[in-house]
Amino acid sequence: MRWTQTFIPTMKEVPADAEIPSHRLMLRAGLIRQLMAGAYTYLPLGHRALRKAEAVVREEMELAGAVELLMPALQPIELFEKTGRKDAFGNVLIQFDVTRRDHEVHLALGPTHEEVVTDLISRQISSYRQLPLTVFQIQTKFRNEERPRFGVLRTSEFQMKDAYSFSTSVEQLNEIYDRMYAAYCRIFTRCGLSYVPVEAESGPIGGDASHEFMVPAGNGEDSIVRCATCGYAANLERAETGRAAAGIVPANDAAELQKVDTPEATSIEQVSRMLKCQPEQMIKTLIYLADGKPVAVLIRGDHEANEGKIRRALDATDVELADEATIEEVTNAPVGFAGPVGINCPVIADHDVPLIRDAITGANAADAHYTGVNAGRDYQLEGTFDLRDAGAGDPCPRCEGTLEQVHGIEVGHVFKLGTKYSESLGAEFLDENEKRHPIIMGCYGIGVNRIIASLAETSHDDNGLIWPISIAPYEALIIPLNTSDEEVMKEADRFYHELKQRGIDVLMDDRDARPGFKFKDADLVGIPFRLVVGGRGLKEGLVEIKHRTEEEPQKVPLADALDILV
Ligand code: ATP
Ligand code: MG
Ligand code: MG
Ligand code: MG
Repeated sequence: MRWTQTFIPTMKEVPADAEIPSHRLMLRAGLIRQLMAGAYTYLPLGHRALRKAEAVVREEMELAGAVELLMPALQPIELFEKTGRKDAFGNVLIQFDVTRRDHEVHLALGPTHEEVVTDLISRQISSYRQLPLTVFQIQTKFRNEERPRFGVLRTSEFQMKDAYSFSTSVEQLNEIYDRMYAAYCRIFTRCGLSYVPVEAESGPIGGDASHEFMVPAGNGEDSIVRCATCGYAANLERAETGRAAAGIVPANDAAELQKVDTPEATSIEQVSRMLKCQPEQMIKTLIYLADGKPVAVLIRGDHEANEGKIRRALDATDVELADEATIEEVTNAPVGFAGPVGINCPVIADHDVPLIRDAITGANAADAHYTGVNAGRDYQLEGTFDLRDAGAGDPCPRCEGTLEQVHGIEVGHVFKLGTKYSESLGAEFLDENEKRHPIIMGCYGIGVNRIIASLAETSHDDNGLIWPISIAPYEALIIPLNTSDEEVMKEADRFYHELKQRGIDVLMDDRDARPGFKFKDADLVGIPFRLVVGGRGLKEGLVEIKHRTEEEPQKVPLADALDILV
């Protein structure tokens, strides 16, 4: 492509309303232009980068065994009513009525496609023999974001790669989830992003059921904590309770306490079954409000927190989750505390909330745990219970290390959905014995625009963008210094065609402009390799090659230039 024939409106000035580097640079480099808040046009350079990111995502999805389809953005609102997400999305869901002949139809613009894809599968799949199946699309999503901002980092209309897996067992789901997780790691690595997979709010399956892929960046809207010692990393929303759990210490020798003996109950599995999660996935401190009074629910296990699961189980009761509670309030509150059988931690079963009490009592194996335990007398709560406030300097919930806190941009999210959507939309399969079960689902999203925006945010210098080869709109830029010099143009053209022939995406800056001006633009748009052809150089049989990150160009003989570039 020749610069004069494409459309790259670079800007010298820093746009006043652009607050963060990626937004400023993407505007200045002529990648995007705003139509209105939350809606952007991708100009040719931006569009090319977006397409390259899409290609990486598509390739890795296919390698991971997912098959591509394309679903409509227009969706009937009834589907969202069936899954309860019309209310859950609230104002974020863009909905409107249209008139068709004599009746009105209520529609939504898809913010994501769990409903549509589950509806599709419910109609097309009926037997275990047709499963597992993973489908994906790269498609425009619509969300009426409260605060669209930071250029294309958060917009009301964006490209998402969304994949959905359908399986007959949790084991099958776990296998697909792991494959997707690995594919995500490859995608972000190939895109040149430094990323951290973090534990996120877990879904109905519990435990390791959800991970977000975060690009650490000062302007990221998410806060994540990580432990340099053991590698534990979590979204703060999820990590916060690790701190509260870490603050519980038995004050008495547990042997003095009264043993619980409930013969019909044998193991922690009963609690986990009641709470519909995996036993090894239980370790959580939640503070609930019952009649306005805090109730602490401490579910501990060998692994990690499972807030979403427990929350859902407790949704059935009239307790609500509290954001914070003082130590005093918690100490005086009725407490439910379940621990794994055989580990010396108390289970306190005298609880006001029947669901919690039953669950905890159910977990008491004979002689395994204790009841009648008094908060304060038998154990103490240490630290603060400000659940929104875990962060830098807090103890790691997994090891002796200390947590550090950084901001991050969420570029991807993988989630074990379980049967939430298949149950509400009737997506079932018949097993070998003709028994009917809801299909077990997973969903896997990547914000394609965010790949570009977070690259721009994390890979630039004072002069402009620095693209990795994989995502760069063009891989090489040829700059003829004097476009009216026939010799120069002839050589530049020759390089242009040879590079194209070798499959290199090449742009030629054929503008009749000063070299300094072209060099500035070259740095701004950030194309990885720059080849400069000048009259004086040609006389010596030399051209100049420079990588975007190098200070000084390298003078190379004409005959060697192509081999160096390719
Ligand atoms: P966020 O927490 O930033 O609002 P989300 O958790 O709501 O994102 P998901 O529903 O998990 O987003 O969607 C999958 C992916 O889509 C996200 O990981 C993110 O990369 C991208 N994404 C979500 N919302 C937007 C948006 N408004 N603009 C651009 N990309 C988005
Ligand atoms: Mg969101
Ligand atoms: Mg999020
Ligand atoms: Mg998310």
